[in-house]
Amino acid sequence: MSVERVLLAEPRGFCAGVEMAIKALTWMIRIFDGPVYCYHEIVHNEWVVRAFEKVGVVFVDDISEVPEGAPVMLSAHGSSPDVVSGAQDRAAVVIDAVCPLVTKVHHEVKMMSRKGYDIIYIGHEGHDEAVGTVAEAPDAITLVEPETGLADFNPKDPDKVALVAQTTLGMYEWQDVMEKASELYPELHTARKSDLCYATTNRQDAVEELASECDLILVVGSENSSNTQALVRVSGENGVAAQRIDSAGDIRDEWLTGAATVGLTAGASAPDHLVQEVIDRLDPSDGFELWRSTEEQEYFPLPPQLRAFVNTLTQVVEAGVTAKPPREPSWLDRDREWTATEALGQISA
Ligand code: SF4
Repeated sequence: MSVERVLLAEPRGFCAGVEMAIKALTWMIRIFDGPVYCYHEIVHNEWVVRAFEKVGVVFVDDISEVPEGAPVMLSAHGSSPDVVSGAQDRAAVVIDAVCPLVTKVHHEVKMMSRKGYDIIYIGHEGHDEAVGTVAEAPDAITLVEPETGLADFNPKDPDKVALVAQTTLGMYEWQDVMEKASELYPELHTARKSDLCYATTNRQDAVEELASECDLILVVGSENSSNTQALVRVSGENGVAAQRIDSAGDIRDEWLTGAATVGLTAGASAPDHLVQEVIDRLDPSDGFELWRSTEEQEYFPLPPQLRAFVNTLTQVVEAGVTAKPPREPSWLDRDREWTATEALGQISA
């Protein structure tokens, strides 16, 4: 069964944090011999994780599973202080691929707890990002699920309450708790902008716009991807049923009955070739159109510890090639142009 038209959301798919993390792990397997270990899924996408497993990366959920002296990468979602120090104790090299926007939330939490605030953290229990952030100040922070709200939050001093959030929530989830907290605690301290990251909000804005044009929205992304799930919820909030799919093979014919126009987007960790396969599967009789709501220019450089290794490797290679290398842009200079899609293509070839 096919459809008439597909509206392809832009922006969709890889964000700057995921781009950086995938490229960083690709560098790790180029630089180091033997298995490279990665604490937690590098990003929450099954296809990406399998691609790295095929080239020997070992993913662990407990840092004690990393053998002494092995190189280890910490995932984009951010890790608790215990995990970071545990990794430093046992691994020869630790590269932290945490997204800088998650690091910013960790800093906010540490700063507010030092100042004596009771902190509301809006997030999903058990999500890697939430676990890492809460661990920065476990005695000062209360994790609040968007669905259950503030019922279990009892601050010592109602005039000293702060609020932070997981970066990948749905905008409606965040707003509801934020409004309630502002009502209850007029002195509420919070970031000037929400903690939801630019990629989360841009992808949700695009879905919100698409909803008025579509009969169905398909969201490519893994089940454990919080921002993917948020896209599904935003679509529902705007009156259009959405289905999350890992790949084109998950599409059911019954979803397409009566769905002339299908919107298509992808979570921040979903590779674009999976989206292209969905278009092929839908085979729209009127073709597909790009639905651009905004343009993204964000770029996050490789983690500083890794840049030092890449620099050294560059110098060794250049020295081996010619005693006086021509002044060409180094690999680090060119990192901005090299995409995670290309990196995945290289490791999967
Ligand atoms: S979704 Fe946002 S917070 Fe998460 S990795 Fe991407 S840019 Fe960073």
